[in-house]
Amino acid sequence: MLVQVALPVPLYRVFDYRLPAATQATPTAEPSALPAIGSRVEVPFGRQTLIGIVVAHIAAADSSVPLNKLKSIYRCLDDEPILNAAMLKLAYWLARYYHYPLGDVFGVILPTLVRQGKPLDLLITHWRILPNITDDDFHPNAKKQKQQFDMLKLHGERGASEDVLLLEGMQRPFLKTLEEKGLIERYIEPKQASTPVKLAKLPLDLNDEQQQAVSTIIAAHKASRYTGFLLNGITGSGKTEVYLQVMQAVLEAGKQVLILVPEIGLTPQTRARFASRFAADIVLLHSGMNNTHRLQGWQDCRTGHAQIIIGTRSAVLYPFADLGLIVVDEAHDGSYKQQDTLRYHAADVALYRGVQYNIPVILGTATPSLEHLKLVDDGKLIECQLSTRPGNAKPAPMQLIDARLQSTHQQTTDDGARYDTGLTDAMIGAIRQTLEAGDQVLVFLNRRGYAPVLLCEACGWQADCPRCDAHLTVHYSRQNSSNAYLKCHHCDWQAYIPAVCPDCGSQNLDAKGIGTTRLSENLHAIFANPQTSKELYPIIQIDRDTTRRKDSWENIYQRINQGDPAILVGTQMVAKGHHFPNVTLVCLPNADRGFLSADFRSPEHTAQLMIQVAGRAGRGDKAGRVLIQTLQPDNALLLKLVKDGYLSFARDLLQERKMMGLPPHTHAALIRCEGKTLAATMQALKDAIAILPSNHNLAVLGPIDAPMSKKNSRYHAQLLLIAKERGQLHQVLNHWWQPVLALPSAKYLKLTLDIDPVGW
Ligand code: ADP
Ligand code: ZN
Ligand code: ZN
Repeated sequence: MLVQVALPVPLYRVFDYRLPAATQATPTAEPSALPAIGSRVEVPFGRQTLIGIVVAHIAAADSSVPLNKLKSIYRCLDDEPILNAAMLKLAYWLARYYHYPLGDVFGVILPTLVRQGKPLDLLITHWRILPNITDDDFHPNAKKQKQQFDMLKLHGERGASEDVLLLEGMQRPFLKTLEEKGLIERYIEPKQASTPVKLAKLPLDLNDEQQQAVSTIIAAHKASRYTGFLLNGITGSGKTEVYLQVMQAVLEAGKQVLILVPEIGLTPQTRARFASRFAADIVLLHSGMNNTHRLQGWQDCRTGHAQIIIGTRSAVLYPFADLGLIVVDEAHDGSYKQQDTLRYHAADVALYRGVQYNIPVILGTATPSLEHLKLVDDGKLIECQLSTRPGNAKPAPMQLIDARLQSTHQQTTDDGARYDTGLTDAMIGAIRQTLEAGDQVLVFLNRRGYAPVLLCEACGWQADCPRCDAHLTVHYSRQNSSNAYLKCHHCDWQAYIPAVCPDCGSQNLDAKGIGTTRLSENLHAIFANPQTSKELYPIIQIDRDTTRRKDSWENIYQRINQGDPAILVGTQMVAKGHHFPNVTLVCLPNADRGFLSADFRSPEHTAQLMIQVAGRAGRGDKAGRVLIQTLQPDNALLLKLVKDGYLSFARDLLQERKMMGLPPHTHAALIRCEGKTLAATMQALKDAIAILPSNHNLAVLGPIDAPMSKKNSRYHAQLLLIAKERGQLHQVLNHWWQPVLALPSAKYLKLTLDIDPVGW
């Protein structure tokens, strides 16, 4: 017998190995001495030693390599398979669908420590409160300690893993102090069978539409039948309550639930939403985990210890002991598509896994992607609609402000210079009114930093990144003007702001345009006390620059949730599922720019973003409203969105795509080529076209230079293949992609293939 092993090398094949000499030599050796399919083996590969996954047992006669040329495996790392048949099937499917080498697929699926051959049962620290410790054991002055203690107390007798506690905002030094004081202890959690899930809180009474959705989905669960659902519910319509009540049925049946959330949404609040309803073993899987925690999470899913699994994109690739439901929250979100290596879409993989396990999959969103609407039309997803908000909450009406009629408000600095705030008086008036009524305002601007361009007024020079086709963003603040610099948001290149124009020597350099920092400062100037210029209302900036630190989201949340009047200034980070009950006004000073972009997907994505941001208004008891300031109030797309709403807008776009033969009515593969010169990348793609089969039947667009063709000093060209039928596309790729990789002109270039790309 031989074993076939998938190895982490970028080759589209598996490798045959003989068994270790000891096993081979004894003719009586039990067949069970064969390393199991799905287990890890260590093997020689050239001069290296690699760890691979056994994918098949074959007879020596079936190998294409003569027996005396075959090497033996060094050793087996597992007595039992670490990947079961379903996981192997998933890996094969991913390799086939995304045309990615099987060994590399395992590289993506397996946690680092597993890839490195570590034993699966590594240990992780948990913390719990010692018995008989009460609040009285705290000195009244030890407020911070008490506060940290209370956070741990929320987890009950069993406490929680250090990883979860740190994520929730506990600080390691305090854990140590509390331990030294004999109040809490650390322990390694013994792996016991999970206790049945209990309700921690009673479910809400559902409205009719929610009830309808819950019953339909539970019926699929009861019948153990794969069904994909599009839970199409406007923002604030109570999609979470639908998830929770379906989850209850699934958890009570003893099955696991996987909840996928967008990258940014994974704050402690996400966990709290589910922990406050269910007393269950909840596992969080996210990119901030270290390798040990990731392995622990992987094990908890695989052994069934984890009952509720909340994770970002890659959680969809985890092994599950007994999965009963997958929820993809905010299913339209761009972060579900992996943009490098194995370019999978987590929602598509979720549907595949639903089929694998015969379970329901819920794609929940207020702004379904056109792909998902098309699946509804094709009868592949069942649509459940939630068209109202529960209770008194009404969706906030959207209103346009014509920025051509009203000039934007001018403000004067201390030394008398006038500058433009980028906000019309109408918008400023509405903000003032809202704050004076005691409510909060959210101003959305999808651009961080101070200004997107530094321009020489004398000669037109602009500060560009030397490594990318992009302007450098100005980072600066009036309060701390010494800390000014230029930064590329694509490659992180940084430079000082020049004193004079490098081209003409003029001192007349000006920061053009507006980013969140500048907008925050402008708002500060407008709304400060005119006498003292002190802040009357806090202005809370929410973007990647202000939330970089681990606990910063937590602090921002706390400030917002105190509920006092405040202005929140945020980038797309604020669009994702957050609940700010006191926000009654949402302002979009220039969110509609995306309707002008060349990318055909831009209107869809712009509209989704606008609707998601608008959905932050009026989620509490008070009504909300949304103001959109625009220089193109006649734009047909914008008018359609504002007047008829997202669904009607999206239906029109879908129709348009059909007429133009674009996805999702057709199927696309994007080939990107990256290299040191544009000419070389273009040549490789031309050579690739030349070896397409003559009868290929695909539309071939390109090669052209990619939208940002120079990035990080590398050049990018691209080629798009479009097919009417998915099968045609894969058929061509099956025979063409590997020869393309082997083209002589592609030798020093990086060629990648993106199936179902989300942008080009
Ligand atoms: P979505 O995810 O659809 O944007 P949420 O699930 O956050 O909306 O729900 C919005 C608010 O409505 C939440 O405060 C939630 O508790 C509340 N809610 C949901 N369903 C009901 C219901 N049936 N009765 C009363 N309140 C509800
Ligand atoms: Zn100049
Ligand atoms: Zn750059």
